[in-house]
Amino acid sequence: MLENFEIISAELPGFIPVVIFIFGAVIGSFLNVCIYRIPNNHSVVKPPSSCACGERIPWNYNIPILSWFMLRGKAACCGNAFSLRYALLELLTGLIFVACWIQFSPFVALTGMLFVSLMIVGTFVDFDHMIIPDRVSIGGMILGVIGSFCVPELHGIDASNLEGNLKSGLIAVTGAIVGAGLVYWIAILGELILRKPAMGEGDVKFLGCIGAFCGWQGALFGMFGGAVLGCLVLLPLIILGRIFGWQQTVIVDENNTQETVAFGTQVPFGPMLSLAGLIYFFGFSAYVDAHIENVMTLLGG
Ligand SMILES: [Zn+2]
Repeated sequence: MLENFEIISAELPGFIPVVIFIFGAVIGSFLNVCIYRIPNNHSVVKPPSSCACGERIPWNYNIPILSWFMLRGKAACCGNAFSLRYALLELLTGLIFVACWIQFSPFVALTGMLFVSLMIVGTFVDFDHMIIPDRVSIGGMILGVIGSFCVPELHGIDASNLEGNLKSGLIAVTGAIVGAGLVYWIAILGELILRKPAMGEGDVKFLGCIGAFCGWQGALFGMFGGAVLGCLVLLPLIILGRIFGWQQTVIVDENNTQETVAFGTQVPFGPMLSLAGLIYFFGFSAYVDAHIENVMTLLGG
């Protein structure tokens, strides 16, 4: 199979990336469905795509990226506007899938696409609802362990024997435990200092998912890299928000009671964790691992 890929790549250099891009855009379309349905506990496969008005969307209006432009952002059935975000998310998924394909060997790339998909769903559900559902985080941890077992190259391990598979699976389990454990303790500490929950339970499990795909070093980077990114991105936004008086609506209790508060009072941490996880996965890993090794050596000697 791999030889066939090489022959096609040599004859038609752009062909496979284009196919991967279209594949990514189609998966992106499915991720849009996941982002919309998972927080409401609906099935992601049944019923088929439908408009907010309840009407089924025919296949020719369900083409990733293009449909939004063909319809100029208005549903064909009822004329209701639908967000450009659907198209942008499909575009984003397509582009990251191509990046995966270019950077990694085919099996690592496929596992990477699974990881990217989980990060995208976690990010946008957290944006919309300030939660990361178990189906994404715990589901992702399990997929990460299975993916690592099947593709040991993901953790730089030779895939020629069962020992390699087991070793890689163990790295994933360790990563998940360290990832989830790390945030758990930081959350407890934050709660002691701030006297209110500093981090959601969803973030804890979500970092476990990053650890399962990236190992414990990736989880560590996800946590601290995510915090740094959070400061870089959020501080300017919060300052601007104070200046211009931006507000946000937050849910304050289990009964979904909403309250309008100053922008930045509640911010999702999932997107920062995802971004840090992806930065680690796409090449920052060697750099981070070397640094962790240095610190360990210093501590040890
Ligand atoms: Zn409609």
